[in-house]
Amino acid sequence: MRTTDTRVRRALTAMAAGRPVVITGGSDRDHQGWLAFAAEAATAALVAFTVRHTSGYLRVALPGSACTRLSLPPIWHGDNDSDAGGHRVAVDWEGTGTGISARDRAATIVALSAEESEAEQFRRPGHVVPVQVATGGVLGRPGPAEAALDLARLAGCRAAAVLCDLVSRNHPTAMCRGGELVEFAAQHRLPVVSITELAAYRRRTEPQVVRAADNRLPHRDGTFHAIRFREVHGDGEHLAVIIGNATSGDSVPLHVHVECLTSDVFGSNGCRCGTELSAALADMRAKNCGLIVYLRPPGPMRGCGLGARAGWDAEDLSHIAAWILRDLGVYTMRLSDESPGFGLVIFGRIRERGLRIAG
Ligand SMILES: [Zn+2]
Repeated sequence: MRTTDTRVRRALTAMAAGRPVVITGGSDRDHQGWLAFAAEAATAALVAFTVRHTSGYLRVALPGSACTRLSLPPIWHGDNDSDAGGHRVAVDWEGTGTGISARDRAATIVALSAEESEAEQFRRPGHVVPVQVATGGVLGRPGPAEAALDLARLAGCRAAAVLCDLVSRNHPTAMCRGGELVEFAAQHRLPVVSITELAAYRRRTEPQVVRAADNRLPHRDGTFHAIRFREVHGDGEHLAVIIGNATSGDSVPLHVHVECLTSDVFGSNGCRCGTELSAALADMRAKNCGLIVYLRPPGPMRGCGLGARAGWDAEDLSHIAAWILRDLGVYTMRLSDESPGFGLVIFGRIRERGLRIAG
């Protein structure tokens, strides 16, 4: 098993047992850290431990459905995709006193996680801040609240998770970062997992595409079989074109292509994209056997020589390609001779899934 998978699994085991984990991430190199645990596991002692080592601004990550059911309006009507966009009006559970003590906050947190809780059972404003996470969790938005909720869900807990920013002990006016995070986790025997590792784990273990359409594609050399795939998270769509009798039992010639409008459609020779695709297709037609996975990265139009080149993540696209192959039941393949560098990039992803490269 990959080291990163082991780190995710350790975090899930801790979550399932009601223990806290350290989530790391952030845009800069010196990662920030959050202490997180399943909301249903909140106790006065666990909240007191959290308050002692964090900013004390305890948030509870919740799915949109829970925020609607519990009438938790946004705290700020701005950009919903920003970190602040998900924050809801703070609440206290009706059974609490001032609402701020560790015991009171633990009760509020558990109540937020309970399916039987009702909107009227919470006072507003209070001392625990609910946060609505993006649809799709870390695959919808790579934020700490999404990571905390994903971990709770994957651990089999109710869909609600506490998170709070760890502060530095060495520099009490700053946040806990980098090496100090690792030190803190080791000292308290807490598993550490990064948002990136969790996203990669989910991309490897959960199907990333669904079939959107299945069509016969008439061609001057016969009929191809075209299957359109839609990404489960995000709005990308991709195409698999099956030529001839490429079946699961054989070692299927495979060509993975990333859309290049200028070359694919207009025949520009400023790059090799279109030439490689045509050559692979001609070869497959001649043999009456092959599979082309045509990837269309989401976002702006992509074509070499169109100025600002739309970026695409080879890692993300590799996962998509591997899931398409698995959906098609193609487990053994030969990379086509015309496969450009990208073919090699997906090689690793394909092998990770137990798919085999022949020849
Ligand atoms: Zn190109």
